[in-house]
Amino acid sequence: MTDYWNAELETKPWPELERWQAAQATALLPALRRRSVLYARLHANVPDDLVLRFAADLAALPFTLKDDLRAAQDAASDDRPFGDNQAAAQQDIVQAISSSGTTGRPLYYALTARDVETIGDAVANVWFTAGIRKDDVVAHLVGLPMVAGGLPYADGFRRIGATLCWLGGFPTERILREMRHLRVTALLATTSFALHLAGQWDAIGRETGIASRLAKVIGGGEPGLGQPELRRRIVDGLALTHLRETMGLGDVIPSMWGECEAEDGMHFNARGHAMIELIDPDSGEQLPWREGATGEIVYTALDREATPVVRYRSRDHATVVAMGCACGRTGPRIRCIGRTDDMLIYKGMNVFPTAIRDLVVARFAGRIEPVLRLWKERRDQVRFDQAIEVDVEAASALDAAARDALAREIEDAVRGQLQVRIAVSVLERGGLPRGVYKNAIAAVREA
Ligand SMILES: [Zn+2]
Repeated sequence: MTDYWNAELETKPWPELERWQAAQATALLPALRRRSVLYARLHANVPDDLVLRFAADLAALPFTLKDDLRAAQDAASDDRPFGDNQAAAQQDIVQAISSSGTTGRPLYYALTARDVETIGDAVANVWFTAGIRKDDVVAHLVGLPMVAGGLPYADGFRRIGATLCWLGGFPTERILREMRHLRVTALLATTSFALHLAGQWDAIGRETGIASRLAKVIGGGEPGLGQPELRRRIVDGLALTHLRETMGLGDVIPSMWGECEAEDGMHFNARGHAMIELIDPDSGEQLPWREGATGEIVYTALDREATPVVRYRSRDHATVVAMGCACGRTGPRIRCIGRTDDMLIYKGMNVFPTAIRDLVVARFAGRIEPVLRLWKERRDQVRFDQAIEVDVEAASALDAAARDALAREIEDAVRGQLQVRIAVSVLERGGLPRGVYKNAIAAVREA
């Protein structure tokens, strides 16, 4: 018997849910044009009496791009610190969220008290779907409260009634010890950290003398948990009963997707607060949600007061694993396959580094470690006309000839499956940096 956070919305037949959401979107649009300078401009040609009946009707509206949000923020003033998309009065704004700002100036999003409530509900819905309950003691390791994964994630755990232990910000050694002392049962971590932890959790246990109670890990922040070998490593290393993937977007709602007990693709858990579309990233055409469909996810916030977005292009690419689920939740179950920003072009063909990694790690499981490093000449290199240089790490001691033979085998497998030429070096065991799973995907030669 499945427990739901919001049984009505989670189990409503998908077309019915879309009709319900479309009615919400219809009602918000005219008011949005009055509240947001950005949408007064972007939606200048949208008729006031536009009625959206289905998700497909959203195609009548233009997309909102990250660049639109940047330009809107650049128009910040003393009265409107969040710029042209500040759709609430300053005295009603209670919190600012920052994007990570790893590329360029960070973007800021504002929350009213009601936004804090609605986002808390959506995030709690994801954590609940991922198996977090009142009796869990949760370690939250994000060190920066202001980022999307900071306070908003913490709010979701408190909303469920779990015990929040905000350990992020302490040195790693202390975090690991405190997790034992506090009898932590659940952990929210990046895939890299979970992998890193799996390698040293036993040593911490010996040091503190306290048995592990950790049973649940929610992982996210980077694609990877779709990979069975990596999943197995983490589950075995930490003796987990739950390993669930999550995904969200600070610009919309920091966490919106989460896996159920099937652990086979993420359900959309923000149904009361956002509407989703799948599009072809090149043409912008809508794609139907059906098993096997692949595209970019587009979000429309349904009840955001302060910095709303309509048809926002996430740059997250996903594949639909299935429609519906044995757990009773309706709609698409997805896996994230990468971000537009990570995509490489090999001789005119799009390829995600994660597609190369997933293929290699799955095909050569047991012979190589589940990590891979792809080299770029420059940080912004996207095009490759020569074979892409890739390092992998042997799982056992091999002589030079055996490493060479393995490298050729991997190159052939990738060429056969993805039509991409790579030039593989097989390093000795321990040759690749650990705990930097995400960065290791694309290292820069000159850096
Ligand atoms: Zn399910």
